[in-house]
Amino acid sequence: MIRSKDRSPTVSADGRQDLYSGLIRIHILYHACEEPIFGQGMIEELRRHGYRLSPGTLYPLLHGLETKGLLRSRIVRSGKWSRREYRATAAGKQALRAAKKRVQELFGEIFEME
Ligand SMILES: [Zn+2]
Repeated sequence: MIRSKDRSPTVSADGRQDLYSGLIRIHILYHACEEPIFGQGMIEELRRHGYRLSPGTLYPLLHGLETKGLLRSRIVRSGKWSRREYRATAAGKQALRAAKKRVQELFGEIFEME
């Protein structure tokens, strides 16, 4: 099956996309704990780290994190512009703390740090 250019998978290979989805969520949660984030900015940030997500992939992901109560969003208007910004909730901050422990543990094992 031939994919059109605009519908390329978010990460190079389908299997990898699946593998990285948790990392991407943790990454988003991390930034949302640091400061308010918005979709386009997050797409650029993730691209900087080698993850190529389309808005069609990122927005459902953000929405999913909001539905789970880890993020909350509001529409921010300035002049003609409006965009939805996301912040971590208290539960999101707690989830990040728990995730950090696991990432650290995994990191230690993968890189054999004592
Ligand atoms: Zn980052």
